[in-house]
Amino acid sequence: MSSLAVFDFDRTVVDDDSDATIINRLREKEPPPEWEASNHDWTPYMSEVFEHAYSAGLQQGEILDCIGSMRPTPGVEELITTLAAEGWDVLLLTDANSVFVNHWLKVHGLQDAVTNVITNSAFWRDGRLFIEPCMRQTACARCPSNLCKSIALAQWLAQRPPYTRVTYAGDGRNDYCPATNLPAHAIVFPRSGYPLDDLTKQTLATTSPQVKAKVVPWEDCYTILHEVFPHKRRISA
Ligand SMILES: [Mg+2]
Ligand SMILES: [Zn+2]
Repeated sequence: MSSLAVFDFDRTVVDDDSDATIINRLREKEPPPEWEASNHDWTPYMSEVFEHAYSAGLQQGEILDCIGSMRPTPGVEELITTLAAEGWDVLLLTDANSVFVNHWLKVHGLQDAVTNVITNSAFWRDGRLFIEPCMRQTACARCPSNLCKSIALAQWLAQRPPYTRVTYAGDGRNDYCPATNLPAHAIVFPRSGYPLDDLTKQTLATTSPQVKAKVVPWEDCYTILHEVFPHKRRISA
């Protein structure tokens, strides 16, 4: 029987946000299009950003260097390599895109430790980055149409043999939806001080919490490592 560790990418595996990193780099060259709150979906906006990056002369190599140099959260490399070495499936489930996530994993030597990446698919054509939605869903009202992580996770689980242990680490609002669908024996790891942490705290303070899983907030991934493998010695801190 295998175990599954699910990770969000932005502000969970990497300390920062990959889209924001590119938008900030673009800002140094030419103001990017403004995000409008009325615009529910993020992928069409990022598509506009990439088009803008291309016309502002932000090169493919420069974009990839920016992504590759994003700092990992403390301990995440040790955590992911330990999980893989212990035979866990490691799943990255993120509203970023395949080009950013796979490039970062490659630069940081984690590609082989990660079982699969579920995200919006991106590709280069003539130096411009294109992005396509991970899915087109209307079943979940609280998630954007391009990705409900609960639906994506349910599809993944349906293809795999049952897991004995399931963990989920994330920071954002869109990590709350899957957190509410995890069974009681799972563990949710919300990053301390981020929206998922606030949302889980709020629901756990009610008489009928929406989250059934055990909740363990973290500031660095050594907390997760220690929770999952209590008998392993801390490698460093
Ligand atoms: Mg995130
Ligand atoms: Zn959802």
